[in-house]
Amino acid sequence: MELAAGIDFGGTFAKIGLVERGGRVRSRAQVAMDPRESFEGIVEPVAETLRGLIANTASGEKLVTIGIGTPGFIDKTEGVLLGGCENIPSLQKRSVQQYLGKAFGVPAFAENDATSAAAGELAFGAGRNYSNFVFITIGTAIGGGLVLGGRVYRGWRGFAGEIGHLCVNRNGPWCNCGSRGCFEQYASGTAILRVYSEKLRKRGENPGSSLTAREVVERARAGDPCARDTLEEAGMWIAQAFGSLLNVLDLEACIVGGGVSEAGEILLEPIRRHLPDHCWRQTGSGVIVRTAELRNDAGILGAAAQAFERLE
Ligand SMILES: [Zn+2]
Repeated sequence: MELAAGIDFGGTFAKIGLVERGGRVRSRAQVAMDPRESFEGIVEPVAETLRGLIANTASGEKLVTIGIGTPGFIDKTEGVLLGGCENIPSLQKRSVQQYLGKAFGVPAFAENDATSAAAGELAFGAGRNYSNFVFITIGTAIGGGLVLGGRVYRGWRGFAGEIGHLCVNRNGPWCNCGSRGCFEQYASGTAILRVYSEKLRKRGENPGSSLTAREVVERARAGDPCARDTLEEAGMWIAQAFGSLLNVLDLEACIVGGGVSEAGEILLEPIRRHLPDHCWRQTGSGVIVRTAELRNDAGILGAAAQAFERLE
């Protein structure tokens, strides 16, 4: 049986798994990571852990490819992380793809983690019945990926899918991408936390310093009207971004993942309700708005999925 290794680099952990073509995760491991370590100091323990997983596979099982997901801009051919990964600085200007490809003697493919996640939803998750969809993952920031004609759309260098940086308000706050009023400024976990805290202060309450976006989502689910209003507003901004994409790309589905998507219908319903305000009746009709399906193993499955896809 052919297996892909899926490796997902986060800020504090690298998650590693061996994945079958059908999407079953055969084994998984996690390596704690100190982002101040050198490139080798970060990548070699990951390679060592992967060797351990491979050593435990049965005879007849074979590693055929390695997929790697990291934040940032990764060039499509050499796999060099060109920027946008300030959380793990020693990975920048280097290629985990080349390092692991050489170490294991199989083709390796590095890709932006949100684009990888879109590949995972396409192969194994909420996107498997669609050939054309947009995927966003709402965490601290907003990542995105596009699937067009049944394939992940990467653009000519591999940079496509920066959906969080669609401008939805040209008078809005400046963004670290250089533009202003990007939709990430209004609908990311960071933005949701900010908007909710402002609402609480207006109500004369102190939001406290330990509040998180996840907590806002939980409060919305528990019926807190302020938290629900906050997600309603985020949904409105998301609808604006999705509407533009539907007009340009004629998509079948809009898929929302990441921690904030745990809000489910509390977030999806306002997106659906506001969508007609932002696109043609024709481009908006019949479009499915739903949450992503892959949860705990999303990073591993996404990385493995994009590697299987690019191997072909
Ligand atoms: Zn931006």
